[in-house]
Amino acid sequence: MYDCIIVGAGVAGVSAAVNLKIRKKQFLILGSREFSTKVRKAHHIQNYVGMPELSGMELSNALSDHLSAMEIEITENRVNSIMSSGNGFFLSAGSEVFETKTVILATGVEFSKKIEGEDAFLGRGVSYCATCDGNFYRGKCIAVAGSGSEAETELHFLAELAEKVYYLPLYQTSEDFRPAANVEVLSDRPKALSGADRVETLTLNSGKELKIDGMFFLKDALAPSTLLPGLNDDGMHIVTDRQMRTNLPGCFACGDCTGRPYQYMKAAGEGNVAAHSVLEYLAGLEKAQKA
Ligand SMILES: Cc1cc2nc3c(=O)[nH]c(=O)nc-3n(C[C@H](O)[C@H](O)[C@H](O)COP(=O)(O)OP(=O)(O)OC[C@H]3O[C@@H](n4cnc5c(N)ncnc54)[C@H](O)[C@@H]3O)c2cc1C
Repeated sequence: MYDCIIVGAGVAGVSAAVNLKIRKKQFLILGSREFSTKVRKAHHIQNYVGMPELSGMELSNALSDHLSAMEIEITENRVNSIMSSGNGFFLSAGSEVFETKTVILATGVEFSKKIEGEDAFLGRGVSYCATCDGNFYRGKCIAVAGSGSEAETELHFLAELAEKVYYLPLYQTSEDFRPAANVEVLSDRPKALSGADRVETLTLNSGKELKIDGMFFLKDALAPSTLLPGLNDDGMHIVTDRQMRTNLPGCFACGDCTGRPYQYMKAAGEGNVAAHSVLEYLAGLEKAQKA
C-alpha cells in the first residue's frame, strides 16, 4: 500500500511530489508526463517569483528537469474513481487499482458545465473513461466530446473499437490532428442527451440530432464529487481548510481544484502544504498503530 497517491501532475501535484520525495515517502503521482495543458499553453508568465521571464514551455521543461533530478516518475494514468477503503483509499485508473493510505487531489479545475441528461444517463450510455467503458461500444456508434488535446489519445482508442465516432473538440485542434477514417469531426457543441432506458440521441447546439449508442465526455478533470463520492465541494471546487484537508480523513486537495485565484504560485504553495499535512496524518496513523 502506498503512503500517498497524488492525482494530477500540474504544478500543484508536482510540488506535493517533490516534498513527499524529500521526506522519503512511498508515493505515486498519476497524470501526464507532459504535465498540464495549462502549463504548456501559457505564453508569458510574469508572476512566478524568482523567474520574471518565463514561458509555459520553459516552466514545463523546468518541472521535467526537477523531477528527473529527484528521480520522480509520473505514472501515465487517469484516475476514474476513488473509494474509501476503511483504512485508506482504492483508486481505479484505467484497468488498474491502486491502494493508498492518503490521497492528494491536484486535478485542476474543469470549466465545462454538465449538459442536460448527462447525470441521468451516467452508466447508461454516458461515460467519462475510454479505457473502462470503450469495449462496450465495439462496432457501435458513439459521440465523444473532448475538453482538450489530452483527449485525443483516448479518441484514437475509441475509434479502434467503435464503428462510427462523432468527435466534438471543445478546443482548438492543432494542424497535426489526424483522426481515424471513421471519426467525423464536428464544429458544434453537445447540448442534451435523451433516450428511454439508455442514451439514444445527442442534440447539438445547432439543433442537429445524432443517433448514438454512447456518449463519452473526455474532460481534463471530473467534478470532485464524481471522482470521490462524499467529498465536500461547493459545486465546482473542493472545500478544504488551511492545511488542505478535505472533509474525508486522509484526503487532501491543492491547486486550482480548491478554488480561485487560479495561479501557479498558489498551486505550488498548496501542493507543499498538502504534502506536509500528509506527513502529519501518516505520523498520526503510525502513532495510533503503536499505541
Ligand atoms: C493560457 C493560460 C495562461 C496562464 N497564465 C498564468 C500566469 O501567467 N500566471 C499564473 O499564475 N497562472 C496562470 N495560469 C493559471 C495556471 O495555469 C493554473 O493556475 C495552474 O496550472 C494550476 O495548477 P494545478 O496543478 O492546480 O492544475 P492543472 O495545471 O490544471 O493540472 C492538473 C492536472 O491534473 C490532471 N488530472 C485531472 N484529473 C485527473 C485524473 N482524474 N487523473 C489523472 N490526472 C488528472 C489534468 O489533466 C491536469 O494535467 C494560466 C492558465 C492558462 C490556461
